[in-house]
Amino acid sequence: MTEFKRDGSHLSYCPPVEKWNDWVEYDAEAWPRRVEKHYQLVPTICFNCESACGLLAYVDKETGQVTKFEGNPKHPASRGRLCAKGPATITQIHDPDRILYPMKRSGPRGGGKWTRTSWDEVLETFGARIRKAFQENRGEEIMYHVGRPGHDFIMERTLQAWGIDGHNSHTNVCSSSARLGYLLWHYADRPSPDHANARFILLLSAHLESGHYFNPHAQRIIEGKMAGAKLAVMDPRLSNTASMADYWMASYPGTEAAVLLAMAMIILSENRFDATFVKNWTNWEELEVDGFSARGQSFEALIEALKRHYAKFTPEFAEKESGVKAEVIVKTAREIAAAGSRFASHLWRGSASGNLGGWQPARALMLLHVLTGSVGTPGGHNLNAWNKFVPRPFKNPSPQKRWNELLYPREWPLCTHEMSPLLPHFLKEGRGRIDVYFTRVFNPVWTYPDGFSWIEMLRDEEKVGLDAALTPTWSETAWFADYVLPMGFSSERHDLMSQESYAGKWIGFRQPVLRVLQEREGKKFDYTYQANPGEVWEEDEFWINLSWAIDPDGSMGIRQWFESPYRPGQKLTVDEYYGWIFENSVPGLPEAAAKEGLKPLEYMRKYGAYEVTTDVYKQNEKLVASADLSGSKVEANGVVTKEGKAVGVMVDGQAVVGYSTPSRKLELFSRTMADWKWPEFALPEYYRSHIHRSAQAASMGNPGEDCDPDFDKRYMPLVEWPKNSNGEVYTLLPIFRLPHLIHTRSGNSKFLYEIAHKNPLWVNPVDAQKLGGVHTGDLLKVHTEIGFFVLHAWVTEGLAPGVVACSHHMGRWRLNKEDQIERLSSAWVDLKEVGKGQWKMRQTSGVEAYETTDPDTKRVWWSDAGVHQNLSFPVHPDPITGMHCWHQMVRVERAGAGDRYGDIFVDTNLSFAVYQRWKALTRPAPGPGGLRRPLWIPRVVRPEEAAFYMDKT
Ligand code: SF4
Repeated sequence: MTEFKRDGSHLSYCPPVEKWNDWVEYDAEAWPRRVEKHYQLVPTICFNCESACGLLAYVDKETGQVTKFEGNPKHPASRGRLCAKGPATITQIHDPDRILYPMKRSGPRGGGKWTRTSWDEVLETFGARIRKAFQENRGEEIMYHVGRPGHDFIMERTLQAWGIDGHNSHTNVCSSSARLGYLLWHYADRPSPDHANARFILLLSAHLESGHYFNPHAQRIIEGKMAGAKLAVMDPRLSNTASMADYWMASYPGTEAAVLLAMAMIILSENRFDATFVKNWTNWEELEVDGFSARGQSFEALIEALKRHYAKFTPEFAEKESGVKAEVIVKTAREIAAAGSRFASHLWRGSASGNLGGWQPARALMLLHVLTGSVGTPGGHNLNAWNKFVPRPFKNPSPQKRWNELLYPREWPLCTHEMSPLLPHFLKEGRGRIDVYFTRVFNPVWTYPDGFSWIEMLRDEEKVGLDAALTPTWSETAWFADYVLPMGFSSERHDLMSQESYAGKWIGFRQPVLRVLQEREGKKFDYTYQANPGEVWEEDEFWINLSWAIDPDGSMGIRQWFESPYRPGQKLTVDEYYGWIFENSVPGLPEAAAKEGLKPLEYMRKYGAYEVTTDVYKQNEKLVASADLSGSKVEANGVVTKEGKAVGVMVDGQAVVGYSTPSRKLELFSRTMADWKWPEFALPEYYRSHIHRSAQAASMGNPGEDCDPDFDKRYMPLVEWPKNSNGEVYTLLPIFRLPHLIHTRSGNSKFLYEIAHKNPLWVNPVDAQKLGGVHTGDLLKVHTEIGFFVLHAWVTEGLAPGVVACSHHMGRWRLNKEDQIERLSSAWVDLKEVGKGQWKMRQTSGVEAYETTDPDTKRVWWSDAGVHQNLSFPVHPDPITGMHCWHQMVRVERAGAGDRYGDIFVDTNLSFAVYQRWKALTRPAPGPGGLRRPLWIPRVVRPEEAAFYMDKT
């Protein structure tokens, strides 16, 4: 048996580095003859999800073309392995329908008429328009909205160099709920589980097959399992992940926190918790609950107060809420306690992203880590900030002075990220306008809920003045832009990335493969688009050049940030930007490079990745630096401060750095929640989701004994079913991913779409009977609060009864049959606005074979493009986190005689009304001291402190 090596070097398909300049393989097409082919292998970074795995591009020496992508064994996170989406990059770069040149709209918006333009014209047009906005003090009208970032820091730097609060992101349809649950505990807003060294792993979702940091995590979960770790999965769906589990807990959606708190109660009441850790490392002395104050009390009294507070979370209560058997809850809790400091878990989307209060499962899950002392330990839960490394460039602008309420409105002072799903509603309410809008690898018309409200916004030139889609692929959103600007795939651009994929810190360097190779041979390029296919560019050079176009003579103070650190006054090059970082900001890299006689940039171009350190555990226990200690003082609560700023905390008589929370400890009790008008959630809690069974019953005017009137009155937005919606009420799970598809960017990948191209509605056989004996393939009509969609049923026992599910990838569409827009994956549709805000979509034809330079497009055998369910979802902004709560309460019935597969109807007037109902649940700023949001909570592209005060900006 081959010896397993962590770096993947035992894998036979990973060529050794010394052979990367001339790697020989036999030509598969010449078989059975043995014809040698010679390749140069160039490392780069995959761009098909956030994980940033290492790719090796195989460049045929004879043709100069990239012919395939494999894993880079020198990449410390992916270790030579890839998921299906990594190698599929080859189909994206050779897609005959790809956008190769910058395009400018030539008819009305959304009319689909384009003419080719030049990058010079693009820079001139956008530079002049943005300059005018800045000169007229309208900086907040410039907005950059990102889907998949694929880089670290450079965009934040660019926007702060422009002095604007203009960064918008997709995070509020993705992960912001889980982030709040984590950051309230320890400031870091993401987990970094050490799966490989765990003894027990708990996953809330299908993380093993399609999770955040999918491939790097999946291989380590399996590594942990191979070493004996047990795996538990909480998911109402029998995913591939659940099928690998020792315990599958098919919890009813939104009840996960009840199960987790019941587990915590078992650990507490059976005295299986790590008392020393809890005592030393939580802010337990601040706890105030149920009339009990821990101030001046013993630790034992605190534990008794916690037991009283959580007494209702019996295994039987959790079973009633969730459907998970009480004995499974007890057994799992005991296994978690036995794993102790080697208990790892992951929660990112799934329950967190689906539910009202979806942040509570993260908060409750962390309680298990705190009780078991598995924070910062080998095999435990680590903080993302401890396992991610973002080096800084040569100089950085100051934070912007402005606060943009289109991004961080006062109603959601605790949202972790921008309230981007609400942008069309904000503009409809007259909160502002956008003069220049950049969408980058971002397709809200398709990805977001309420896509027709996005179309209404984008087609209105009063609301959005000039709109550019920076994208490697066509998309439904790009269709409504003024400019479509082609940006490169994984092998066509520079980016620097790091992720918290394992117990270590690393950086990965994405690079434009053809440019790098030709430059090795002495050819010179001014810009990457000169080496890429067509004139496909990269964002780094685009933003540098646009910044110069905005401020050509440097008088606005912008250009200085984009001048070379080596050649004063000259335009910064990408080599200089990254070369400086590698020389000066990455510990150990210059030395590692010098050992091989290379400059740091040459080293990164050669290997594509570098591991910075594996010294990552227990960073909270590091001693406060002596420079910080000198002149510091210890406050009454043990926090060590210097010049008014916290620098550490006293633990066991030593000044250690602790966590970046107000108490410098793990915050069991969140003073922030209490101070910001949510005192009932100062501790980890469970409360019912908007799709809870009691809410379903209430929506039908039949609340029943399960209803909780107090809760409903305070938190439950009322569901109002539109006229003509009929059928049984269910919870729809619309967000599970398929492991081989990329949200909205795999539509041009023939291999990936050949594997899967339909998204039927999963229905349990019990429910199929209730619906009148539905069979797989029957047409069902799914009513939401704002409309309906029609799709096929898939009857399966792989889903809990009472719940239906539909994968979120499929249902791509295009408005013109012949346009070369993702024909592998999209249906040609007829879209009509039949009344004000009333939209009807009907599929005219599905996918068909077509002729291109790629003979495979004639061989397309599938016709189903799926159904675009997201269009019929209203926004559901959680009143605390602002996260869109994806799960839908729906009514399902058999389709009628007039209904056809793929039909969609939406009334955006209703979607605006739903938005208003959810907004009414918020408790707006100001908070203490007139703040817009707590100062200690992180904010993307953070403005200067004065901007946090409502009366100062
Ligand atoms: S997990 Fe797959 S898609 Fe994501 S970066 Fe790795 S290879 Fe690419």
